[in-house]
Amino acid sequence: MKTNNKKRLSNGLRQSKLFTKTLKNAPSDEVSKNAQLLIRAGYVYKEMAGVYSFLPLGLRVIEKIKNIIREELNTVGANELKMTALQKKEVWEPSNRWDDEVVDDWFKTKLKNGTKLGLAFTHEEALTNIMTNFVSSYRDLPIYAYQFQTKFRNELRAKSGIMRGREFVMKDLYDFSLDKEQHDDFYEKMKIVYKHIFDRVGLGSQTYLTISSGGSFSKYSYEFQTVTDAGEDIILVNKEKNISINKDDFNNEVLADFGVDKDTIFKEYKSVEVGDIYNLGDKFSKALNLTYKNEKGEEQLVYMGSYGIGIPRLMGVIVEVFSDNKGIIWPESVAPFQIHLINIGEDKKAEEIYEKLLEKGIEVLWDDRDKRPGEKLADADLIGIPHRIVVSARSWENGGIEYKKRDEEESRILSIEELIEFFKK
Ligand code: ATP
Ligand code: MG
Repeated sequence: MKTNNKKRLSNGLRQSKLFTKTLKNAPSDEVSKNAQLLIRAGYVYKEMAGVYSFLPLGLRVIEKIKNIIREELNTVGANELKMTALQKKEVWEPSNRWDDEVVDDWFKTKLKNGTKLGLAFTHEEALTNIMTNFVSSYRDLPIYAYQFQTKFRNELRAKSGIMRGREFVMKDLYDFSLDKEQHDDFYEKMKIVYKHIFDRVGLGSQTYLTISSGGSFSKYSYEFQTVTDAGEDIILVNKEKNISINKDDFNNEVLADFGVDKDTIFKEYKSVEVGDIYNLGDKFSKALNLTYKNEKGEEQLVYMGSYGIGIPRLMGVIVEVFSDNKGIIWPESVAPFQIHLINIGEDKKAEEIYEKLLEKGIEVLWDDRDKRPGEKLADADLIGIPHRIVVSARSWENGGIEYKKRDEEESRILSIEELIEFFKK
């Protein structure tokens, strides 16, 4: 009984217990809309350019996004693990990526004895090396493994808020396949999985599967690009033919292959790369000697692919796309809480409603602070929880609580029963 109670209360938070406070202004050096809003609303704290701490509300959003991704990746039989940020140079030398001339965004450090270490900017080498311990036969493949892990990149410019971090959590997945055919099958599956992910976080209609240059193992790779004015990339979209191309890779040959003639009209959009899927071929298995024995006992190189999504980048893009001049407007699926409950006086009634909602498993942030109504409502708009409930003497006279969606102008009166019924759906 006691445990049950605790569980029920864990999906709620009294705002008086939240240590963050909203701010009138973001730091003057913060130029991006996403970070300005997220800092002012108390989701993130800016340590320095491109380096942000995630505060309690921000962490809830990050975890929601991660859980959506995790659910989708688990449907294709992927295993979650977590690798280390600290990397030794021996693992990165065979692929020639230890060299600062080859990879210009490494952060490096060293042990007391002088041994050089790198802070990983990606994990192809690290995971390929781990897999040499577990793969020996064709029976061991395919393997799909992913992690949510902190990457370090000494990015030249970091002016896009949490969309371009120098330290950021990435979901990176790698496939280890028998051959190109098996890899290609999975690659096609991942296009669908990624579509589900971007649909579920609310960005489906703005996000395009975009043709990009492919590297040494395939003519093309694909990026998922979300259209927003805050983007650093440019894509060309032909909605009629359902085709999107990275402007940098636009040429008549990338077109002919897709059955589009060179005079076809494309529209240009600014966009952000929210994810990418990549054919790595045997580049890393060759470098690190990751092989398996086929049915005839012959040694073969493993065929690989990699699949990234930047978690804070996705959160930042969501804020860029879903906000107005009052603040953030979270899609339901990633909002830190479902309901923002605000009381103006009427503490007892508010508490009763708060507990009822928690009992139904609904996540509620209750603004129980002793503040002016205007301040509470402005904070709620800035924080951007999708559903708002106001309990006041006036609402009570009118028959219950005032309910309003964050993106609607007008509120309406609901009785407590109607409210609970509404959220059960
Ligand atoms: P960009 O071209 O934007 O620099 P990239 O192609 O170099 O990105 P990848 O190595 O493909 O980045 O990383 C995989 C994914 O990680 C990207 O699709 C993006 O979602 C995310 N990502 C990359 N760099 C950052 C960053 N600095 N901050 C946050 N997310 C990032
Ligand atoms: Mg990329």
